[in-house]
Amino acid sequence: MSSGEIPEYGREFRSRAIREILKYLEGADISSIEFEGPEIAVYIRNPKFILENEEKIKELAKLLKKRVVVRTDPRVRKSKEATIQYILSLAPSDVTVDPRDIQFDDVIGEVRVLADKPGKLLGKGATLRYQILAETGWRLEVYRKPPMASRVLESIMRHLTITSAERRRALMEIGDRIYRDIVVGTKYIRLIGLGSFSEVGRSAILVDTGESRILLDAGMSPSSNSIDALPYYWVPEFRLEDLDAVIIAHAHIDHIASLPLLFKYGYRGPVFVTPPTRDTMLLMLTDFIEVTKKEGREPLYTLKEIASLMTRIITVNYDTVVDVAPDVKLTFVNAGHILGSSMVHLHIGQGLFNLLYTSDFKYYRIKTDRGRRLLPPANEDFHRVEALILEGTYGAKEPQSREKAEFDLLNLINKVSESKGKIIIPVMAVGRGQEILYVLYTALKEKRIPEIPIYVDGMIYEVSALYTEYPELLAKPVRDMMMYHGENPFQSPNLVYVNDEDKRSEAIYSQGPAIILATSGMMTGGPVLEYFKHLAEDERNILTFVSYQAPGTLARRLAEGEREIDIYEDGQVKRIKVKLSVIPIEGFTGHATRSELLQFLRYLKPKPKIIILNHGEPSSLLSLGQAIKESWQKLGFETPPEISIPENLESIRLYPRNTKVQIALEY
Ligand SMILES: [Zn+2]
Ligand SMILES: [Zn+2]
Repeated sequence: MSSGEIPEYGREFRSRAIREILKYLEGADISSIEFEGPEIAVYIRNPKFILENEEKIKELAKLLKKRVVVRTDPRVRKSKEATIQYILSLAPSDVTVDPRDIQFDDVIGEVRVLADKPGKLLGKGATLRYQILAETGWRLEVYRKPPMASRVLESIMRHLTITSAERRRALMEIGDRIYRDIVVGTKYIRLIGLGSFSEVGRSAILVDTGESRILLDAGMSPSSNSIDALPYYWVPEFRLEDLDAVIIAHAHIDHIASLPLLFKYGYRGPVFVTPPTRDTMLLMLTDFIEVTKKEGREPLYTLKEIASLMTRIITVNYDTVVDVAPDVKLTFVNAGHILGSSMVHLHIGQGLFNLLYTSDFKYYRIKTDRGRRLLPPANEDFHRVEALILEGTYGAKEPQSREKAEFDLLNLINKVSESKGKIIIPVMAVGRGQEILYVLYTALKEKRIPEIPIYVDGMIYEVSALYTEYPELLAKPVRDMMMYHGENPFQSPNLVYVNDEDKRSEAIYSQGPAIILATSGMMTGGPVLEYFKHLAEDERNILTFVSYQAPGTLARRLAEGEREIDIYEDGQVKRIKVKLSVIPIEGFTGHATRSELLQFLRYLKPKPKIIILNHGEPSSLLSLGQAIKESWQKLGFETPPEISIPENLESIRLYPRNTKVQIALEY
């Protein structure tokens, strides 16, 4: 290796990096240099240096090909009380800052302020940031105060502050592992399906490069309570002590629910997620424990495991490259499925191979789309992709268009409004709940439905509050509406968030029409059952489904026409004679439909050589595979891609490929 080139890992990299940092940041009065997880943190005693030399810090990061963060040495930071006072004294009189909205992160030396007018607070050229840093040693970040308070985010922030010393120790341990010397090198690349291959549920895929092992998703099947709901974690290839990293694509139960279990059995490595996935995931996992207990079952793990998971979470924004192992770099890109959802791009072996895991995603063409969308479609443009793991939930099915689905829903609402009935819409708390609220909000604005009350029950409020924390990640029309016009689709005079029995009774017994959104989406539990019990026997009412109903669930039984339902209540069976109309609406799905999957492949750049289909019923995956086989030329592939539909426990060799063997088998 020539003297100019800097190796990307190992002891040699570390010592070269330290030498370059000392050279570049001379004058910063460096007190220590730490490898904290994927980042290199440089602690300095001269805070003025940071802002005067931002260009130099950027150059350094480019040279080292790593994230370099420069922080003040904790010993030169002013006390938190003094810093709060200083910030308040500098805020212009027309900007409101509540002292409770000033929070500190000791690990990174950051003070976060929520303000109603962030731009005004920061001043021209962000002068305030400079002043605060120079005077107090804290790096200032200002965010727009979201219109809804998120209790989850508050408690996460509190927890992160309390555990900051522990988190820093954990990050350094993780850094040691990421920047270790290569032991054997990238000898091969293979995947092992631990779950979600030829099925929907318990997503978990092991990526093994010989040098390192990465787990993509750690889910559980929502439809089962037994051990079969877990991925095949007991195969000999999967050893927690050998696992370098867990990467979570999004916060749905079938992708996250077994993650705390890994911590219960001794995993202490990093968990990479986007910031909204962190928030939603912690909310969902805590709720998952509660729900299990309420159903009288023993949860698989406790809050203790969630706490230890929290010290190992590393958040990564979209489109930012980070090292997760000596030979693996990760980039999250938008997947358009739910807030924070991502496709996972892995760059393996310093230029050797690139794998894209779509996980669950939504795709549509912005130019021609006419739906009311909360999220932008998935990204389709990449640097390199040799192999693609493609979800195929809707591989065989083309539901009606989103536009038509919205039209149908508004029609039903107009119908109940005329008959003075009530419409119940069971929804999942994450994703569909917010999508429907947005559709209702725009319909009210455009006067396509009358001004009737909308009751919202279940965790939907908490999750909607999270959506308002990240307006920059929403589809452009929503983003503009929220950031520049002060509108909030999750709050309007018609909207009532149900948080006690009184409001619930009001929703059920009030005279006049109403819309009721409640969890759970498949009616397997949650407040929706209360509404159903009380409203089912009135024929003016309507029950509509806006998402998939799994076989065996109450939602599916009703959709298939069952009209006598037994519900258990305080140890007694109550028979309900269903007289309301049950009308499922298709087309609101958060997954790419069959035509969208093919369209995604058509616009995907560059084209992969290998396509692995997962996250779908076998028949869906077969049908999708067949469609790709028949139309690869139309989709813009130069050579036919190799398509495989493996089952769980199969191991798929991605690299190296012996083409001679492949050809021999094909003919
Ligand atoms: Zn999902
Ligand atoms: Zn899924």
